[in-house]
Amino acid sequence: MRKSLQARIMMMNWKTSLRLWAALIYCLIWSIAPALADSPQVENDQQPIIIIYTVQPGDTLLSIALRYNLTLTDIIRANNLSDADFIFPGQQLILPGIILPSLPSIPFISSSSDQVHMVKPGETLFSIAELYQMSVNDIMLLNNLTDPYFIQIGRILKVRSSLVLRSSQLDYPFTTVSLSEPIVMQGRTLVVRVALAEAATVSGTFMEQPLFFYQNGPQQFWSLIAIHALLEPNIYPLTLIATLPDGKTVTKVQEVQVIEGDYSTETIWLDNDRSGLLAPELVQQEQQKLAQVWSQVSPRPWWEGPFWYPVGSDSLRITSNFGTRRHYNGGSKLSFHGGTDFGGGVGVPIYAPAAGRVVLAERLTVRGNAVLIDHGLGLYSGYWHQSQIAVNTGQEVQPGDLIGYIGDTGLVTGPHLHWEMRLNGVAVSPLQWVRESIP
Ligand SMILES: [Zn+2]
Repeated sequence: MRKSLQARIMMMNWKTSLRLWAALIYCLIWSIAPALADSPQVENDQQPIIIIYTVQPGDTLLSIALRYNLTLTDIIRANNLSDADFIFPGQQLILPGIILPSLPSIPFISSSSDQVHMVKPGETLFSIAELYQMSVNDIMLLNNLTDPYFIQIGRILKVRSSLVLRSSQLDYPFTTVSLSEPIVMQGRTLVVRVALAEAATVSGTFMEQPLFFYQNGPQQFWSLIAIHALLEPNIYPLTLIATLPDGKTVTKVQEVQVIEGDYSTETIWLDNDRSGLLAPELVQQEQQKLAQVWSQVSPRPWWEGPFWYPVGSDSLRITSNFGTRRHYNGGSKLSFHGGTDFGGGVGVPIYAPAAGRVVLAERLTVRGNAVLIDHGLGLYSGYWHQSQIAVNTGQEVQPGDLIGYIGDTGLVTGPHLHWEMRLNGVAVSPLQWVRESIP
């Protein structure tokens, strides 16, 4: 009791001294700004923290405000902005009033879908989980916590900004509709949850992508939505349809805001021999063969919890990220990297990162020795360019099972594992599946 009162007083003191500090630091900031040029920088001290944030392509003031738990007014005032709509990539913004208590350094990872929550007196991990419609386990994973019963007052927790609509905002028979991220980055997997008032069924679509709902309780369903890595940033409708036992349907349309991913751009130069391998009909043929497999939807999820990395921690080296924009031979045609690449010599073992069933294990022209695993509900993972395949089609795998070895077969410039995840046929970020427990 006494402790929580003290904490409250301490927080008040921070708040009152904030203005003073803000003024002081504002004067100092430009003299040290070059040293803080990379985004975002956080200094951890007992004083109020000011973040110098470099605006990324696709950012809006609102998306930045949401990400750092600030109001638009906070940012506009701190930066003397006259036109709130006009910010440009590369512009540096002062994000004021982020107060970190004296705690061990907290890694502040910028991810557009994360926001932060400061633990207040009287709160528990369970009440915070309830507040953000997350599971306690998800919060623990996101913040590297080991004990759900011990959290420090003043600790900054990363939470996911979900959207929850209750029955008062919905038409019968919808009682709850929630989105794991109402503002979502290109290339991510989004979770929609629906609860219905009676024994109705639910279906839905997003960008002509039919959604497959899994029933996880009486009148409770969830579904995964793939956000294409090149989907133009905009607001798109998610259509949900409840079908009542008498055949009557009720439609709910929910807006989903897609923002630009923080992906870089690279140009790949291929010599004429290699370019020949990229013959459109050859690429297309292989693509069609795979699409035929990953368009099948198994009715239940095989996986549970976060995915593992597909290589051992001793050989964990990411050489190319998912989503990187690619120009070939300096041309203007834009594509993107559909997976995460792991470096490593020929023969490094590859392991199944989650439970599933092998649906393809054979040599392909572009992808080389390839394995494709069905994880259920339209989710697949692929492992290309292997030197040797260690599984057979039809085989069931558990996380950690050997599936093959890193190699340089197919269209590659050197040995590596290309790890790709497909949801409803769309390539999504594999590392999101490692870092988060989905759904
Ligand atoms: Zn790759």
